[in-house]
Amino acid sequence: MKNDLISRLCDAVEDAREDLVELTQALIRIPTINPPAENYREICELIRDRLSSKGFKCELIRATGAPGDSDKFPRWNVVARHEGTHTGDCVHFNSHTDVVAVGDGWTVDPFEGLISEGKIYGRGACDMKGGLAASIIAAEKFVEICNDYRGAIEISGTADEESGGFGGVAYLAEQGWFNPERVQHVVIPEPLNKDRICLGHRGVLWTEIETYGHIAHGSMPFHGDCAVRHMGAVIEALEQKIYPELLKKKTSMPVVPEQARQSTLNINSIHGGLSEPDEDYTGLPAALVPDRCRMVLDRRFIIEEDIDEVRQELQSLLLEVGSNRPKFKVKSKELFSVIPTMTKKDAPIVKAVTDAIQQELGREPDYVVSPGTYDQKHIDRIGRLKNCIAYGPGILDLAHQPDEYVGIQDMVDSTKVMVRSLASLLQP
Ligand SMILES: [Zn+2]
Repeated sequence: MKNDLISRLCDAVEDAREDLVELTQALIRIPTINPPAENYREICELIRDRLSSKGFKCELIRATGAPGDSDKFPRWNVVARHEGTHTGDCVHFNSHTDVVAVGDGWTVDPFEGLISEGKIYGRGACDMKGGLAASIIAAEKFVEICNDYRGAIEISGTADEESGGFGGVAYLAEQGWFNPERVQHVVIPEPLNKDRICLGHRGVLWTEIETYGHIAHGSMPFHGDCAVRHMGAVIEALEQKIYPELLKKKTSMPVVPEQARQSTLNINSIHGGLSEPDEDYTGLPAALVPDRCRMVLDRRFIIEEDIDEVRQELQSLLLEVGSNRPKFKVKSKELFSVIPTMTKKDAPIVKAVTDAIQQELGREPDYVVSPGTYDQKHIDRIGRLKNCIAYGPGILDLAHQPDEYVGIQDMVDSTKVMVRSLASLLQP
């Protein structure tokens, strides 16, 4: 009985191959570039119109007042829900609808959705309009064939993941859309490859440090105090004290790529002295001793570390630098932080997708953790929902690259994994 249902579901997905391709193309053809955040409403309406016609109840939600939301660039989101005939769990597929800027190096039109040799090309093809289309087809086929299932299915298309997700998943989570009372399983179809399950991500701490000096004529620096030299001392201390320590902080999290299985630190930016002149300025700079220097640090940390210890590490370093430099003046400001998260391997959504991958692809999935964060952070922290993974078609390394593409067979295969997962969670 169950096997018969599974084969009917998988056949239906196979038959929908053309539809899957056309839907992916249609999504790519709406250029939802973020920043600034273009055409969010158009893409939400496309999803709403399509899913309404399949019996889903759809709502367009603007993240009014969220960072970035404005009348010029409104942050629109869509949530579609289909109820089964009996009460049960709700499985939610969440995809971000925004894409990053095109950049240089393309050999095809990034918004045409060109098909060549079994691949669909375009900005967002793999990250993550291919995954969004796969989850839509999986949900449509499931509700069409299983007309008496338990629980509910939701599909959301959300804004701003590429800029932190505050006008998207964070907003929806704050409004209660991801409360464990209404949603029990979440799949985020980010491009992790069709045979990998992403359990979570490392933590993040962004800190801005500013050193202060005293302005003076550049010919008499002894009358001033150079803020850039103070910052140089901070960087030297990072090199001597912090970087060697980070190499030793290894994690048991299965982060990919493997070089990220430890704590890391990136100096994101540094600005000191006169601001950059306009491009058409042809004169010389003024002779000044810089009185300010600002640096942004991007520290990624592992589940074995405590965020307060990570904060303390930097503060202790600044104190130490100050103790060796008489006029050292510094301020630090935390810009952003995210706690590491990792869903347990025996969580229901992990088990369902594991079984589905085994049955569909005939192999064991790889369990991975992302070096950077994605929208799971908001579902975990604001939504308090721990039963969440990223799973979807596409190759992560192609994301944000020129000539980004998604493989059509990979999309079909992962749609089948999704539909099998729905069957095991909602038609037990
Ligand atoms: Zn993405």
